[in-house]
Amino acid sequence: MDPKLGRMASWVLAPLLLLQGGMLSASPPAPGLLGRIFRHIDLHQDAFVRTLSEWVAVKSDSIQPLPCFRQEILKMMGLAADELRRLGARVDSVDMGVQQMPDGQSLPIPPVVLAELGHDPAKPTVCFYGHLDVQPAHKEDGWLADPYTLTEVDGKLYGRGATDNKGPVLAWLNAVSTFRALEQDLPVNIKFIIEGMEEAGSIALEELVEKEKQRFFSGVDYIVMSDNLWISRRRPALVYGTRGNSYFTVEVKCRDQDFHSGTFGGILHEPMADLVALLGSLVDSSGRILIPEIYDDVAPLTEEERKKYEVIDLDLEEYQKSIQVERFLFDTKEEILMHLWRYPSLSIHGIEGAFDDPGAKTVIPGRVVGKFSIRLVPHMDMSVVEKQVKQHLEGIFSKRNSSNQMTVSMTLGIHPWIADITDHQYIAAKRAIKTVFGTEPDMIRDGSTIPIAKVFQDTLQKSVMMLPLGAVDDGEHSQNEKINRWNYIEGSKLFAAFFLEMAKLHYNNSLPNQS
Ligand code: MN
Ligand code: MN
Repeated sequence: MDPKLGRMASWVLAPLLLLQGGMLSASPPAPGLLGRIFRHIDLHQDAFVRTLSEWVAVKSDSIQPLPCFRQEILKMMGLAADELRRLGARVDSVDMGVQQMPDGQSLPIPPVVLAELGHDPAKPTVCFYGHLDVQPAHKEDGWLADPYTLTEVDGKLYGRGATDNKGPVLAWLNAVSTFRALEQDLPVNIKFIIEGMEEAGSIALEELVEKEKQRFFSGVDYIVMSDNLWISRRRPALVYGTRGNSYFTVEVKCRDQDFHSGTFGGILHEPMADLVALLGSLVDSSGRILIPEIYDDVAPLTEEERKKYEVIDLDLEEYQKSIQVERFLFDTKEEILMHLWRYPSLSIHGIEGAFDDPGAKTVIPGRVVGKFSIRLVPHMDMSVVEKQVKQHLEGIFSKRNSSNQMTVSMTLGIHPWIADITDHQYIAAKRAIKTVFGTEPDMIRDGSTIPIAKVFQDTLQKSVMMLPLGAVDDGEHSQNEKINRWNYIEGSKLFAAFFLEMAKLHYNNSLPNQS
């Protein structure tokens, strides 16, 4: 027997024997093992929920810049490192230094946990990214119970961070611990990169990824994250794209001081009037962006792609009701999804320097700054968009013949991300979803921006996949955030099944003369 086979778990041998018998594709991995894994997870679900409640109890809020919250994140990262060590991982808590706050104080940046389980060259290596910091939460905001006390009502586990992102991180650990408990070899090598500053913009993470490229990430084949939600309550999804974002400010300035509208109104080019005209020139009432040539680089829609939107499980009426909107810009599910995922959008966010208090102050603001952003999609180029926006606004402004000064700046730019869904890990995830949930996943994109996905893709040149566990109504960042017990437990099974499918694909692919 090939000595390599000695290292393989027994379930690998079963399909191998079938292959030798002349079959080209492998049979499902030993149904016996999968069954035992699922039973173990079902039987231990209360223990898994208990650990989640211990993690939710840590107030790892990364938004409020207070030393007490930073201590909580440090504690959270420590708990995660301990848990990973208990599972047999080699754990490295990377010191990230300190963060200098505008008020002069400095706060520790919590360590990033890098962990590694197994380094068998015959197995694929999957790296899981997650975060353990949370958004702020206070009972007074309208929570049914204390947000840091995991509370179960009707199978819903309420608590800050339950779905974003503590539950999904733990589901991954539950899957690993199940293999351990059953004394089964892990079918894949697993690495973890877990951070504690995601909600605050993943401070210093990009630099760390760059630095660890040749070391920690060198053997990594695939990157998986579970930091978004399904688009339905019951049907799982796979996410294969996110929009980027370019954020603009347009300043119109006469002078730094304001004016009295009785004393000066009528003889000035008013900055606010200029700005309102500029902002009003950006987008029309049908949502179409009016900046010339902005749609030129948007990937053309193919018939094949159009079909993808038809099969997605989205109840438009319920969706509209749930977010309390009377009517969308578009009438069909397909149009709505395409305008969220594959077309750019322009949103106007606010005006700095505008009078926004109650009452009737008769002021002419001397300087105002308008803010808007454009969600970018493949294959828009950020520097091209920047040029188009500036040219357009300069054109509008010059027609006004104003004596004010206009300055346009792009203050933030994040590229869109899109994955190749024919990659192995997408195929393996689809199969695992079918096994656990008995259905095909919704193949979805996310209209918002998750910068780290693009960083992983660009810096490491690896395939990135988003495999969410949470249901559409989990309420991340909101009051009464929750994860359903069902999602958490079936999600733990999903990850275990995913490991097995990954190994199977990898193994079949490395067989000689398989065609
Ligand atoms: Mn998150
Ligand atoms: Mn979040």
